[in-house]
Amino acid sequence: MKQYLLRLDDASDHMDVEKWKRMEELLDRHGVKPIFGIIPENQDPSMTSYPCNPTFWTLVHSWMEKGWEPALHGCYHTYVTEDGGINPMHSRSEFAGLPLPEQKKKISHAFHVLGTHEVKPRIFFAPSHTFDLNTLKALETETSIRIISDTIANNVYSRYGFYFIPQQSRRVRNLPLRICTFCYHPNMMTDAEFEELDSFLTEHGRNFCSFSDVRLKNRKFSLYDRLLRFLYMKKNSLKEKD
Ligand SMILES: [Zn+2]
Repeated sequence: MKQYLLRLDDASDHMDVEKWKRMEELLDRHGVKPIFGIIPENQDPSMTSYPCNPTFWTLVHSWMEKGWEPALHGCYHTYVTEDGGINPMHSRSEFAGLPLPEQKKKISHAFHVLGTHEVKPRIFFAPSHTFDLNTLKALETETSIRIISDTIANNVYSRYGFYFIPQQSRRVRNLPLRICTFCYHPNMMTDAEFEELDSFLTEHGRNFCSFSDVRLKNRKFSLYDRLLRFLYMKKNSLKEKD
């Protein structure tokens, strides 16, 4: 049976509290438990305009108690290179292209910040989906994280000493994939997007699982995965040229 997962990006003490609340109510109604990515020290100018929410970490713990799975989402969420790394969804990155010592410093700081708030993430995903092999090395030496939520594939696979839970779509739709992660940015969501998600969950809610239902397996990245990734990247680059 196919499995759908929901991933929410850009939770931090600078976020649109009302939209996150709307998302939480919607997901509660459908019994869906997402993976949510926390920015440890949000310095992204597109988000620092949201007033600082002093109760953010209490909210994080209340989500975790509900079964929402926290993930480490970058460190400062600021782009310092134009490198797409090994998952070139964009040509900008907080990590890809940086020397290993710099990546280690960022990853270690990011993991430490979450630790001071008693959050121990098991999953990592980078801002703009971009990271490289040094990011993985930094995660390996500086943290206990061994799971990445990203890349295009048909199912969970293991590579470079990590498990990859693929992330293939920015909006809900029926896709012929064994496991599919839909990624949403609640801060930016429109009414229409909330409504679309709501009606998709009404129809396909039974296909949604939580992180704890995902079977991590030592499956190799296959020829079929390679083909899917190729087709996706090709479509993506055509879109960028438009
Ligand atoms: Zn982000």
